[in-house]
Amino acid sequence: MQKRIQTLGLGDISDKLERDVRLSFEDGVRLFECPDLLALGWLANREREKRHGARTYYNFNIRLEATNVCVASCLFCSFARLKPGDPGSYTMTLEQAWDKLRQRSHQPLTEIHVVNGLHPDLPFEYYLELLRGFRRIRPGIHLKCFTAVEIAFFSDLYGMPDEQVLVALQEAGLDSLPGGGAEVFAERVRRKICHDKCGADRYLEIHRIAHRLGMRSNITMLYGHIETLEERVDHMLRTRALQDETGGLQAFIPLAFHPDNNQMRKLPAPTGADTLRVHAVSRLMLDNVPHVKAFWIATGVEIAQLALWFGVDDLDGTVQEEKIYHMAGARTPEAMTTSTIRRLIRKAGREPIERDTLYNVITGAEAPDGAQASLMQ
Ligand code: SF4
Repeated sequence: MQKRIQTLGLGDISDKLERDVRLSFEDGVRLFECPDLLALGWLANREREKRHGARTYYNFNIRLEATNVCVASCLFCSFARLKPGDPGSYTMTLEQAWDKLRQRSHQPLTEIHVVNGLHPDLPFEYYLELLRGFRRIRPGIHLKCFTAVEIAFFSDLYGMPDEQVLVALQEAGLDSLPGGGAEVFAERVRRKICHDKCGADRYLEIHRIAHRLGMRSNITMLYGHIETLEERVDHMLRTRALQDETGGLQAFIPLAFHPDNNQMRKLPAPTGADTLRVHAVSRLMLDNVPHVKAFWIATGVEIAQLALWFGVDDLDGTVQEEKIYHMAGARTPEAMTTSTIRRLIRKAGREPIERDTLYNVITGAEAPDGAQASLMQ
């Protein structure tokens, strides 16, 4: 493979990686332009194995979207409804949201992941009480809730500085921030696809504050629509720069654009090759971010399995009840049992490791999958 990499003109990049020398913006663009997917995968896999060997992480988690009412108008979004009462709109009562967790009392969940639309009328107390209620029901569960875009929206709506919002949520039980809402950081792209939500600098600043308050977070990148290769690399470098400063990021998560039922439906979805390429380049460019995750709901299960040889060391988790991608036409299941995830990882020649949100390894008996399966129909 080394000879093939030399022939492709990537010998200098391979040397840098071997010597732990950081890759440049130009290196990132050249990697994206490399036509030889397997050579790219080989380089990314070498970095993946340097950090994690064959270990592949997954999480026993549940996802909850308490409302899809949203004042923003992101062109790629199939989930949001503008106003309460619009067809297809919903807002859970606190009891309904808490019931989602109560119904899983037999499952050894370690995380609840909450993201919502930007609802114009809910009081801040709704979100605080949502967290407090989850904490009462499952005191030990990790609450990974509200994207930086939601935090910025809360600040603007309730007239509080970003830090004050984060502190109040943390006091109510918030443990960490999910990575959603990053889309593509480049201003040109944001102006076209998500002009009315918080910009890249504020998104990154909210993660910076969260890290200072002791929370961890992830960053995503929505790829495969109008962004250029250069804008993808720029997004990765801005992520890398934040991590140099704070060290608070755990995972980078490329998210595939899905074109059904939204205003960008004329665009084709990214191909499997592009998905593998994005994950591989992410691993190579983000030398300081511990984990690169394939969100199987978005990539498709089979591509996520392949991605385990293209730089990915994490498959997210059981998920359960995902709505955002399924309303955009995702044909993946809405949930996987832990035994299915473990089997997929093993069949890809990797070693499954259950983790909690902070990547502590969970040991002990596997969950009774029969019981899960009955809830996941
Ligand atoms: S992506 Fe988020 S902020 Fe944008 S319209 Fe959809 S729910 Fe609202």
